[in-house]
Amino acid sequence: MAQKKSFSLDDLAKAHGIERKVEEKKEDYSKYEPKKYKERNNFTPKSFNSTLFTYPFNFVSLGDKVEKEERKLGKNSGKIECSLINYTPIFTGGEKSKSGKHTTEQFLEDRENYIISASTLKGEIRNIIETITHSCIRCKNEEIVPEEFKPCDNLKRLCFACRLFGTTVEKADENGNSAYSGRVYFSDAKLPKAKVGTSLTPLKPTMTPNEKLKKYYLDKSGRMRGRKFYWHHENLLSNKNNKLPYKREGFKPKDSVTIVQLIKSLKTFSFKVEFKKLTDIELGMLIYALELEKDLLHKIGRGKALGLGSCKISIDSFELFEESRYNFSSFTPNRKVEDKNIYLEKIKNRYLENNSQVKQLRVILNEKNKLDFSKGAYLRRDSNKGNMPEILSYK
Ligand SMILES: [Zn+2]
Repeated sequence: MAQKKSFSLDDLAKAHGIERKVEEKKEDYSKYEPKKYKERNNFTPKSFNSTLFTYPFNFVSLGDKVEKEERKLGKNSGKIECSLINYTPIFTGGEKSKSGKHTTEQFLEDRENYIISASTLKGEIRNIIETITHSCIRCKNEEIVPEEFKPCDNLKRLCFACRLFGTTVEKADENGNSAYSGRVYFSDAKLPKAKVGTSLTPLKPTMTPNEKLKKYYLDKSGRMRGRKFYWHHENLLSNKNNKLPYKREGFKPKDSVTIVQLIKSLKTFSFKVEFKKLTDIELGMLIYALELEKDLLHKIGRGKALGLGSCKISIDSFELFEESRYNFSSFTPNRKVEDKNIYLEKIKNRYLENNSQVKQLRVILNEKNKLDFSKGAYLRRDSNKGNMPEILSYK
């Protein structure tokens, strides 16, 4: 008669090839208690705690004041041809289709090309120029914008961006004018479809942080923190925690899912920017905002928090048209190829050196940073929202 074996759950599990789960330790909530706040305020990147500070965005401070002047026309008209390379996958929304409760969004396209729209490009470039030149702020939460940064309302006193990109004011001047049109015209950026790989990627419904929450936009004293920019980081979609098992058999998500058509990394889009009657400083600013600096990237399209849309823009050609007979046809004999550095030099002293906003842009737009987004890039349910470190603390 066989001896009766004693057994434990561990043995039973082993016999069936099951790994027993050791009960997870309950989280120690005392670490969220107010007495620890002081520690978090002494934030340095070296003691960086990714569970507390992986906000996908931060704010470039507003600067002192909006510098307002009357618009003056310059002598520079011409054309800049650019290429845009996406360092991370990119998505700009085109056609939507619904199947059941799920929505699929295609990348914006025409017959032959994938497209980043002219307005998307212009919005990005205007945003950079607004930040550097302390221009006015047009946003949905207008009530949180400090008085001196409210949208321009007088054509005789316009901020840099309104002078360059145009604006509409409520009250007409003595000549009946209530608007200036912009003097910078973007084309769509195009990427020929042939040979381009795209992938349909489902996004978790909870992936959009509720950024409307005003508390993220205000500092502890209730003042607007500044203009929002997203950190660059590698595409978080490669992290399985952020991906839905959409194609796995038996996958039945409870919530509706948005599936987007992403363009894979390192594709080259082309676009051009035409401009009319810019001053030397305005042209310098436009050139700077397009190319930025070494290691600084734009963020374009949707899914910025996920790491999508980090892009480098380079100027391939820069031509000025002769003043009296400028003509936007590329066959005009009056064009001359110019050295863009002449114009960059003109904005250097006044706008790029000792400009606190440029210093902050150099940190947050840098393709390299010390943040760790490996666990996600969403706003966390910590009680520390008022203590978001300033951008320069991450330097
Ligand atoms: Zn303005």
